[in-house]
Amino acid sequence: MIRERLADRTTQEIKAEINQLKANLALLHSELKAIEQSCHHQFKGNTYYETCIKCDKVHTLYY
Ligand SMILES: [Zn+2]
Repeated sequence: MIRERLADRTTQEIKAEINQLKANLALLHSELKAIEQSCHHQFKGNTYYETCIKCDKVHTLYY
């Protein structure tokens, strides 16, 4: 019975949920960006990349 109910989810419902999650993701990304932009970075790392010890932003030195 429960399985049948799960299968009843329409593609529209699933798509709506995906869109909701996407909106949530976009919000989280902009939040992260805001933190990174207001951070007075303090990078620590090796010759290939550095990571800010405050906000975790990664700074690649060699590509
Ligand atoms: Zn930082």
